[in-house]
Amino acid sequence: LHYQPQAELATGAISGMEVLLRWDHRELGNVPPVEFIPIAEESGLIIAIGEWVLRTACRQAQAWRQQGLPLPRIAVNVSGKQFAQRNFQALIAQVLAETGLEPQVLEIEITESLLMQDADGAMTILRQIKALGVQLTIDDFGTGYSSLSRLKEFPIDGLKIDRSFVRAVDTDLNDQAIAKAIIAMADSMNMRVIAEGVETSEQRDWLSAMHCDEMQGYFLSRPLPMAQAEHFLLRLAASSQD
Ligand code: C2E
Ligand code: MG
Ligand code: MG
Repeated sequence: LHYQPQAELATGAISGMEVLLRWDHRELGNVPPVEFIPIAEESGLIIAIGEWVLRTACRQAQAWRQQGLPLPRIAVNVSGKQFAQRNFQALIAQVLAETGLEPQVLEIEITESLLMQDADGAMTILRQIKALGVQLTIDDFGTGYSSLSRLKEFPIDGLKIDRSFVRAVDTDLNDQAIAKAIIAMADSMNMRVIAEGVETSEQRDWLSAMHCDEMQGYFLSRPLPMAQAEHFLLRLAASSQD
């Protein structure tokens, strides 16, 4: 697992980290998740992998928090099969109890397309998860043809503006229009909005001027292996003390 920091645009404070799965294969080298996750989904292995990701992420986040490190949130990606697995809510509840992580620290990311494939089914599962006190965010927002009337019914805490709209957000008028619309919509629905794939100070400045809440991307940090992520948090903790 790698961990990528997220920060508040207004203050620069770290708001959380997203957990990203890595597969270092003996012969194939680093296989990107976009390649192996669809295969894990097809084979059903994603259920076991997803459970391991959730448990490992929660255990790690709790360990860091108990060391006094500044980590308000830990975000875990969940794919279709996992989301629809029986007793997904029970699994989350069990992992939270086991690790002692406070529910509101855990954020579950689901993609917009997943939500819209079966909006009624998704609603039931989202409500069950929400009842645990966990946070819910829609990933890759803007790419999944959301029905806006459904969107406002879902118990969602945040939207992540898809990287494809952030790439040229400081220069491209179409991307600016889309990003502005998502920020305004999130604001009016009382949702947090985070831009993913922020790579430059120009993108950061534009998003900040538009009152986007948070950012994530190479500009702040690449996804980091555990030891480096810990180092990142330790440095932060040290600098906030002087
Ligand atoms: P995602 O959840 O939208 O994750 C964001 C992706 O953008 C990550 O790719 C991250 O490394 C990359 N990224 C972050 N900042 C930047 C940036 O500034 N510029 C650019 N160009 N890219 C950036 P990654 O790690 O390859 O993951 C790809 C996708 O695989 C994720 O998209 C997510 O949908 C899926 N994934 C990753 N880990 C898991 C997991 O544990 N479970 C499940 N179900 N899916 C996962
Ligand atoms: Mg994600
Ligand atoms: Mg995304």
